[in-house]
Amino acid sequence: MKNETLEAYWDLLNLFEDYLELGIRREHGRPRTLHVQPGNGLTRIAEEVRECTRCSLHAGRNHTVPGAGVSGPAVMVIGEGPGGEEDRTGQPFVGRAGKYLDKWLNAIGLDRNTNCFIGNVIKCRPPGNRDPLPEETSACLPYLERQVDLLKPKVILTVGRIAIQVLTGKSAGIGALRGSTYEYRGIPVIPTYHPSGVLRNPEYRAPVWEDLKRLKELIS
Ligand code: URA
Repeated sequence: MKNETLEAYWDLLNLFEDYLELGIRREHGRPRTLHVQPGNGLTRIAEEVRECTRCSLHAGRNHTVPGAGVSGPAVMVIGEGPGGEEDRTGQPFVGRAGKYLDKWLNAIGLDRNTNCFIGNVIKCRPPGNRDPLPEETSACLPYLERQVDLLKPKVILTVGRIAIQVLTGKSAGIGALRGSTYEYRGIPVIPTYHPSGVLRNPEYRAPVWEDLKRLKELIS
């Protein structure tokens, strides 16, 4: 098949996919506002992530974890990267920390299956759950950027130090960074502690609750 024909098919497919996933209706085949090319669309991103070999983490993974949830969510939660349970299942935040995160969300009327999208900065598990290396983060970041642009959440909630550092480029710890609202690709960002950190340090529960209350105000 000729390249132009193939491209036209991709355009159509992506238009249809974006319409189904995001309700984006475009007037003509080639819109001016959204650049349509092979690679747009959440499903397409997940497929690319599945095949990804941009960094060495691909060698040790069982599953990629591209993220999951609804399109056009009230909140996009961004964590650090998959842990053992996520690597085993391909789903984000399904271990103990994930169950705790679900409780936080439910407490302010959110639910991963109805009004949230849950993802991570990196899509493959680092060995021994170590922090992602800068080269792993920068290799994976384009996927997150595309997800944020497509999902257009009302607010982003980052959990843990790594996610807010990556999104803001700041190097302070989470204790110093939380309490303020930042912006990422035009979306307000509220950082809070990571649920696994809160499970280990109950004294973080009060500040998390403050952050969740601010999040709720922002979306309502
Ligand atoms: N911790 C994270 O940051 N992300 C997950 O998906 C699971 C645990």
